[in-house]
Amino acid sequence: MCGIVAYIGEKQAYPILIKGLQRLEYRGYDSAGVALLNGQLNIYKCKGKVSDLKAHVNGTVKEGTLGMGHTRWATHGAPNDINAHPHLSESKNLAIIHNGIIENYASLKEALIQRGFSFKTETDTEVLINLIEDIKQKEQVDLEHAVRIALNQVVGAYAIVVMSKDNPDTLIAAKKSSPLVIGIGQDEYFLASDATPIIEYTKNVVYLEDEEMAIITRGEDIVMKTIQNQPVTPYIEELQMNLEALEKGGYDHFMLKEIFEQPQSIYDSLRGRMSSKEGTILLGGIKDYVQKFVAAKRIIFIACGTSWHSGLVAEYLFEDLARIPVEVEYASEFRYRNPVLYEDDIVIAISQSGETADTLAALELAKSKGATVIGICNVVGSTIARKTDAGCYTHAGPEIGVASTKAFTAQLAVLSLMALHIAQARGSITESRYRGFLTALAQIPKKVEEVLQQNDAIKAIAEKYKDAKNCLYLGRGYNFPVALEGALKFKEITYVHAEGYPAAEMKHGPIALIDEQMPVVVIATNESAYEKIVSNIQEVKARKGNIIAIVTEGDTQIKAIADFTIEIPHTIEELTPILSVVPLQLLAYHVAVMLGCHVDQPRNLAKSVTVE
Ligand code: GLU
Repeated sequence: MCGIVAYIGEKQAYPILIKGLQRLEYRGYDSAGVALLNGQLNIYKCKGKVSDLKAHVNGTVKEGTLGMGHTRWATHGAPNDINAHPHLSESKNLAIIHNGIIENYASLKEALIQRGFSFKTETDTEVLINLIEDIKQKEQVDLEHAVRIALNQVVGAYAIVVMSKDNPDTLIAAKKSSPLVIGIGQDEYFLASDATPIIEYTKNVVYLEDEEMAIITRGEDIVMKTIQNQPVTPYIEELQMNLEALEKGGYDHFMLKEIFEQPQSIYDSLRGRMSSKEGTILLGGIKDYVQKFVAAKRIIFIACGTSWHSGLVAEYLFEDLARIPVEVEYASEFRYRNPVLYEDDIVIAISQSGETADTLAALELAKSKGATVIGICNVVGSTIARKTDAGCYTHAGPEIGVASTKAFTAQLAVLSLMALHIAQARGSITESRYRGFLTALAQIPKKVEEVLQQNDAIKAIAEKYKDAKNCLYLGRGYNFPVALEGALKFKEITYVHAEGYPAAEMKHGPIALIDEQMPVVVIATNESAYEKIVSNIQEVKARKGNIIAIVTEGDTQIKAIADFTIEIPHTIEELTPILSVVPLQLLAYHVAVMLGCHVDQPRNLAKSVTVE
């Protein structure tokens, strides 16, 4: 969540920090700030965007070859100028930036107040920097020791960088449950909450593990240790990302670019993993666990947000194809309700970023109870990818838009392939269905491209409904989770209330909402319950609701009753979600743009939710 960037070297830090913060903007944040050391410790910070920070700093001294920057997503205290990071200690000698939450901040704060400290902000972070200062003064230790002792007293999650007026050549960093990566350049070091601000300077990086800290001194090798004071040898990895993939590439928004990248990202997620000609599937990441799947009594998907919707589609896939009972759980609920878990359960964590705090905690719980844990993540080397026994990456490429699009369809592609593979291993699928499925999957990228060609028509529909105050999304079977995802996308970026429902459930409640003002989006591509969904559409029409129907090409019956139809190419029912969600992404996108919303960074949302 939110962003950290820091620099120590021979160049001026300020431009590097600002550019780095801009690269991290996609994570979603509410305020920004920088600290620069140049004899003095100068801090500039304000509510709003990085561009507001630049305007705020404009004209003042911006010198310093050591500095750090932060974008905050408020957890403790309102998003305002004062609560923005960096925070200074009481003496104003130490400064900190922090991602995460110090859960025991209240008791620590109380004790520090007793000891004469005063607080200028409402944040938990200011408590931590004063705790460090208190320890430093009380125990007469150096900064590194003080940070280490303080972190042993802290409960919660953190990625921190600390600098001191008295140590003009040192940055101290540490992390727990919030990501932090060090970039190693020529006579310079970078720190960031992910590699995007670092990539243009160096490809050599070290990812900090939980409860590790790094002491980064100008002109010296990095020193790493655990907060228990055990030495750690830095493991230097080479980054696989490229910079062009992070730019907008001519589109107005990252979200639109990412919607249009889906033919490629789905293809990339399947590439090298299947051959429809040979009828083979190769999922290297789980190959040693196929027997576990064969013997599994149950699969539990844990996820949040859009990834949870992928899990719901996977429930249909794994039950239908592999005949394994499936449960789909919100990670945040699962982790706190003492779930019943067995050693022959397989728990699959789905997370685009691989850093989602609740999913990570749920996964650790499942692991501690002996279940096999598998990860489906997009970010290579992310914490969930590293903490699971096995898994499959989605290879969708960096997703910058906060509202997930291409990561969702890549997850569906990988989950479809996985379910098919396990079905074959369990002998629960006929050869002809298996072959037909693989052939259909190979054609999906091309078919997504066909859906995207209707962008203009979808924009015209968006024009008609842009002033709606509520929207209902209905679907059945495989497309029920798509209804949920369509509604989520709509509310995330348009700020208009939308609700997804299983179509047949409508008459048990939401039908009361329907009137001539209410657009109802119906995903009606199913073959198995076609007549049923036609009846659901009739029920809406009978109450003067407006129907936007997603149908299979060639459909005539629904076209005759719906106000608008959007066609998707024919595919097997199990794969329709990958096609039917695309028009819903575009619909939300166009309405959001027409309403003047901040499409790539919707208010209050963060890309990588690393707080619970
Ligand atoms: N808990 C801290 C605050 O509210 C840090 C939040 C963040 O991760 O940006 O200031």
